[in-house]
Amino acid sequence: MKCKGISAGYHELEVCIVGGWAMLPSLTAIFLIRRKIACDCGRWALYGLVSSVLDAAREALPSRHHNPHATNSSYHFLNHFKNIELIVELFMEVQTNEDSKMPRSYNYLFFIFLLLFSANFISSPSIGIQKKPVASRPQISVNTRTTLSKSKVIRVSVIVNEDHYTIPRSDIDQTFRFASDSLYEKTRTFYVIKDVYYGHFGWSQAYDVVQNYLYDHLSDLPDYVVIFTKADTMLYGGYNIIPPFGGRTEELNALLEEERPFCSNIASPYLTPGVVYVAELDWHHLLGRCGYDYSVKRGEWVHVSNVSFGGQCQNQPGLRCVFMYDEWQCPNLIDDPEMGPQIADRRLFTAESINHELLHNFGYKNVGDHVCGDDVPEAVRSESAFDICGSTIETLKNSGVGCVSERRSIGEYCSRNCTTGTYCYEFRDEHGSVTTFQCTHPCESESDCSPLLGKTVQCRLRALDDPFINKACFYH
Ligand SMILES: [Zn+2]
Repeated sequence: MKCKGISAGYHELEVCIVGGWAMLPSLTAIFLIRRKIACDCGRWALYGLVSSVLDAAREALPSRHHNPHATNSSYHFLNHFKNIELIVELFMEVQTNEDSKMPRSYNYLFFIFLLLFSANFISSPSIGIQKKPVASRPQISVNTRTTLSKSKVIRVSVIVNEDHYTIPRSDIDQTFRFASDSLYEKTRTFYVIKDVYYGHFGWSQAYDVVQNYLYDHLSDLPDYVVIFTKADTMLYGGYNIIPPFGGRTEELNALLEEERPFCSNIASPYLTPGVVYVAELDWHHLLGRCGYDYSVKRGEWVHVSNVSFGGQCQNQPGLRCVFMYDEWQCPNLIDDPEMGPQIADRRLFTAESINHELLHNFGYKNVGDHVCGDDVPEAVRSESAFDICGSTIETLKNSGVGCVSERRSIGEYCSRNCTTGTYCYEFRDEHGSVTTFQCTHPCESESDCSPLLGKTVQCRLRALDDPFINKACFYH
């Protein structure tokens, strides 16, 4: 989603253009405004047409409520809706201008665009009748689910720990707009906020809060949860890594028990299908902090020195701190081309972190996802962004829908339903406790294991029936 402030002559209006098709009516509306063209006759007819389209769509929405793809449709629809609303708003704006005059031909033009718009809306594959999800998921591959030409919506739930922050909804919206803009440019994927949940969670582990939230929303899950809490996020880069929801046995069982199990819009080929990604972030992270100490008071940075110390200011101790943006800043970072703007508007930094943490789910090298390996071609390398290698960004770009009910390939979590020839095994730790379930099959050596693109295979001991005899294929 590209969002741009456009001066319409009357107001600074925000135009969110979703897909190239939407540009035409939007630009026409702006053109009309710019030319101060208006007409009485078209107004009510136009309004009637738009209302009927909206009513029809609104009526259709609740019936899709129980469709596993419903939320996808709803959000897709909502973005179209935003455009119609905008066009009407712009049009009405013109009508209220007494001096404006609009030739008849412009009315016709407007109707044609609206009809085109409606046709696009109805024929959009993610709106009308949904194709049945594929019963068996192909072997993991980066390329099997390519949806290059279509924009993808990431449904996000945001959780705010009010014991740590007061975050206005408008700041959350703006942050996700920043994140969407940059992510869309790279991946044709953007965020739609589905829910913002404010609550008091004290110093609870973020994962427990997220898990409780998702258990309460099993019938209508987001693709991605971002929780803002200070628990474990104030140090380092303002984040804490959290595994996706649905990877643990009890979570997976809960997901499978749903009448219509969850489908993710952006299934990672490196994870079990139908998991919810999670990021734990610090809000307004002290990015260029100078002279602050964390250990004085829990949950607070206390300013204890006029000069930087420890690893502060990119490992430059002894620099005189500068007071800016109500905080003590590292003098060497304020004008840094990358960090400077993010220090000035911390929402930009948070937006970058939102994308960064999401993208880790589309790599399999953890910290290694940051920098491209030598084997990555230059064209892919140049796609790098958000401090993540271009190959990982490509993987998100090529991702598609993945449902929790799909049969699972080797190496994936399971509680049933592994693909033919593989079994759902129980894996135990050294104390004999079950740690995870995984689809796998026995092997003697790596050569017995089917290769999975982008993954390294290991044939090693498993811990089910006889952990000392049977080996199984593991993928990392
Ligand atoms: Zn990272």
